[in-house]
Amino acid sequence: MSTVRSFDPGRLDQLLASMRAEFPDFAIVSKRESALQLAIGRFLAVVTLGGQRTYVSRYHTVMFGKLWVPDSWPQMGSDARYVLLRHERVHLRQRARMGDVGMALVYLLPIFPLGLAYGRARIEWEAYEETIRATHEVYGVAALAALKRELVQRFTGPDYGWMWPFPRMIERWFDEAVARLPG
Ligand SMILES: [Zn+2]
Repeated sequence: MSTVRSFDPGRLDQLLASMRAEFPDFAIVSKRESALQLAIGRFLAVVTLGGQRTYVSRYHTVMFGKLWVPDSWPQMGSDARYVLLRHERVHLRQRARMGDVGMALVYLLPIFPLGLAYGRARIEWEAYEETIRATHEVYGVAALAALKRELVQRFTGPDYGWMWPFPRMIERWFDEAVARLPG
C-alpha cells in the first residue's frame, strides 16, 4: 500500500469524460433549483425527526441518472469532487443494473422502519468501497482513519436514517475493504 499521495490534476476531467461516455444522459444539477429535491429534503427532515436536515445543503444524490448537488458544490475542490464522483458512478451503474424502479424499491422502501435498512446499506456499501479506493488513490493511506470514523457515523447515524446501526460491523467492513486495496 502506497503512502505517497498521487498528484494528477487531470484526473477529475478524465473521470467526468469517461462518465459522460458511459452515461450519455448524465448531468450535474442543483438540488436548490428542483421543487422535487426540496420536497424530498423536507420529507427526510420530518421522518428522521430533524436528524437529516442537510439533504439540500450538504448531500449529493444520484436520481434519474443525474447527480443532484447541494449548496456546498461550488466550494468543493477538484480532488473532493473526484472522490465523490467515483462513489456516485457506482450508483449510476447500480441504476443501470436495477432500473429506476428497482433501485428506488431497494433504496427507499426499507426506510420504514428506520434502521436496519439492509437494501440501502448494501447499495451504499458497494458505493463507499469505491470511496475508500478513491480516497486512498488521491490522499493516501493517512486519510483512511478519518474516513473510517466518518463512514461509521454515516451508516449508524441519521444521515441515511440509521440504516445499519452496528458500528463494529461497519468497522470490520471498512478494514476488509482496506485490505482489498491495491498494493
Ligand atoms: Zn451513496
